[in-house]
Amino acid sequence: MAVSRSVRRGLAALAVLVTLPALTTPVSAQEWSDPGASGGGAHRESGQLARSGATPAATRLATSDENRQAGDQTGYPRQTRLREFPENPDDKAIKLGLTPYHDIAPQLNELQERSDRVSAEVVGRSTQGRDLYLVTLTAPESPAEAARQARWRELIEDDPSAAAGNERLAREYKAPVWINANIHGDEWEGTDGALDVIERLATSTDEADSDLLESTRIYLTVTNNPDGRVAGTRANAAGFDVNRDHISSTQPESRAVRDVLIETQPLVMIDEHGYTGTTLIEPGTPPHGRDYEYDLYIKHAYENALGMERAIGKLGHDETERADIPFRDFEPGEWDDWPPIFTPMYSIYHGAVGHTVEVPLRVNRGEYEQLPVEELRRRSDINRDVAGATITSAIDYAESNRAELIDDQIETFRRGWAGEPQREIPDGYVPGFGEEDRYSAEFPRAYVIPAGDDQRSASAAARLVDHLVAHDVRVSRAEHTFHLDGQRYPKGSYVVDMHQPKRGLANAMLSAGQDISGDVPRMYDISGWSLGLLWGATVDVSADEAPAVRTSPVAAAGPTGSLPPPAKADLELALTDGADVQAVTYLLDRGVEVTRGDDGTLVVPASARSEAATAADRFGVTFTKAGRGPAGTALAAPVIAAAASADELAVLRGLGFEVRPVSTAVLNEGFEFDDVSALLVSTGLDHDALTAEAKRRLQAFLDDGGGVITRGGGGAAFNEAAGLLPVTAVEGRGDANGVVSVTDGEGGVLDRAPAHSFVYSPVWFTGLADSVTAEQRYARDPLVAGHWLPGEAAGGPAEAAGEASVVSGVSAGGTRTVLFGTEPMFRDHPKGLYAQVADAVFWATS
Ligand SMILES: [Zn+2]
Repeated sequence: MAVSRSVRRGLAALAVLVTLPALTTPVSAQEWSDPGASGGGAHRESGQLARSGATPAATRLATSDENRQAGDQTGYPRQTRLREFPENPDDKAIKLGLTPYHDIAPQLNELQERSDRVSAEVVGRSTQGRDLYLVTLTAPESPAEAARQARWRELIEDDPSAAAGNERLAREYKAPVWINANIHGDEWEGTDGALDVIERLATSTDEADSDLLESTRIYLTVTNNPDGRVAGTRANAAGFDVNRDHISSTQPESRAVRDVLIETQPLVMIDEHGYTGTTLIEPGTPPHGRDYEYDLYIKHAYENALGMERAIGKLGHDETERADIPFRDFEPGEWDDWPPIFTPMYSIYHGAVGHTVEVPLRVNRGEYEQLPVEELRRRSDINRDVAGATITSAIDYAESNRAELIDDQIETFRRGWAGEPQREIPDGYVPGFGEEDRYSAEFPRAYVIPAGDDQRSASAAARLVDHLVAHDVRVSRAEHTFHLDGQRYPKGSYVVDMHQPKRGLANAMLSAGQDISGDVPRMYDISGWSLGLLWGATVDVSADEAPAVRTSPVAAAGPTGSLPPPAKADLELALTDGADVQAVTYLLDRGVEVTRGDDGTLVVPASARSEAATAADRFGVTFTKAGRGPAGTALAAPVIAAAASADELAVLRGLGFEVRPVSTAVLNEGFEFDDVSALLVSTGLDHDALTAEAKRRLQAFLDDGGGVITRGGGGAAFNEAAGLLPVTAVEGRGDANGVVSVTDGEGGVLDRAPAHSFVYSPVWFTGLADSVTAEQRYARDPLVAGHWLPGEAAGGPAEAAGEASVVSGVSAGGTRTVLFGTEPMFRDHPKGLYAQVADAVFWATS
């Protein structure tokens, strides 16, 4: 974490509660090519979600990496000779006296030769193709012993009641602990602290360490973001913050550790970061993630944090005498654990007691450039000590509290299967626990993702199902038609039965979320998200009733994509989802003439049926028989000059658009608009700062029929400075964000837009001249989930209610222009909103 909350892009109904007694005593205490990362493949079979509540053991599939193919048929050590990368003298770790990336594999290879306690393997590749390492520390295990551990791990999740009664499991199940390091590339020392711990435990002759490795398995992903480590950047090489990506899984780095987490099912995990001045150790402040079994988390998290604080206190540095524990030391909203976009917060849903740890002394950014090398190295040495001490302390906590941690992970999953309500946590349950800490969810009985005509987009439904399965949420498929809450669902509809072990994660992903504006004055990061409302699929909620239908578990969504008979008919494609956009750009790339009607309808001629069949298969989209409407206008493949953030560029490219990144500087350096057909302005383009020559080129582009799409306050400022649409843009508070309800406006540009959108720093448009049309408006009570308060000079949701959120118009000079006040591409999350962007591009360039 550790980023000013005001800088968002610059870095790239109460449940029925059961009362628990208060705990009277604390719990004892050069580039490599990416072979192509796949997005959502199924990683394991789901358990049968029978209505009887039976829970047959699930069959786990190994993660994608070859090294893990052997899976649990192999004992320990399971050593892999890691490929070594060329020495890179520019690696930013070198200046700090820390381990450059190219030295990690040689060190791990050497340790594997020296010690049968060390197993290293590759669990994924970074954006630029660097290997992501997983090191496992454990005493040697025979294949039979390792297989038994795997069966127990599965039993805990799949049949927790049986696990709770298994005495041999209680005695012999090895406590899994997971350490993730360096997810932020320019927060280096977690890696070095992890390597220190690996070397110490690999070579220790201390009997206590031998005993530890008999009762504990320690997993360390030593650098989660090697591209950022080498380059000295917080983000990965694609410009994404990996530690904001865990609910959306857009990046190979987050997908790799997600799979490690699911495969290892740790009892305790820590995510090593920096730099907060004082060492910071979670648990966090309210608001707390409402879908957790928070009682089972906080009692361990608080004690573990105190242990880590004591451990750094013993290091003897003045700078490490104490820690900041946000739960204990900060005000509500200062360092919350609300969104599961962070590794530890996401891990809690998989049964781990998760912590962010921030090592104290800043060595990145300005300090990296300006401080003397000796001072940087002095700081990095201390940070490295802190990382090592917190890792060691967390491992010790897991060992010392092994039985209770196992029981509590079992209990987490048992409550899920049983559909029991969360527990009410009394004041003082841990020191300081009070009313402000109480967040809870009422879990619905099931979510249903319909098939057939009841589904908004079949491809979106399949994408959502694959995503849920990849995150270890159990999904099943109806074998017959069924009725639920008065609605008929066809055979093949997907069911998420909420009586399942990871119901908390299922709910965190699928529910609408909650408006927490009144709970805290501010938030650390986002406050609203929803795959149920923003990913383009229809997701129905059944509060009390489970579907009465035979279902089968889903390992991967069924295929989608179809063409209608007869072969001679022209084909129509509704632009409902990003997959539809991908199909269109694919067809345009192949020279197929696609026409667009005034109502946004896209038609592909019958002569291109074979190409359309390929598109239907590849993108899962549905073509229908074209109606007999008037002939539309031929679409040209758009070329977009985009002044936008990394996530927006990634979305535009993912849709198949040709994108040329621009900025004030790029335009001033003589950017040629040539074949550019649209200019998208979100950030980094200040019209007033353009040279006269750059303005002349821009004007020539507009005079030549170029279209303009803008997003947010930066885009609206460009619109005004360029003299395009006569509107007044009103900005809400800069940190306001969440899921909003929207209504259709009076325009025809946004075809079939869903009823929800996403905002961050919301903008709305007033004073619309006759030449400007509202395409979409904020609903009367717009904020569904998130945090949006009025600021001193900025309006809240009440002020935005009913106002235009997206407008279109043709400027006096003839430029087709669309202005978004919403955030349809934020962090590549709201996938159901991408068709709106394409609608705007196609209209503006036609
Ligand atoms: Zn960080």
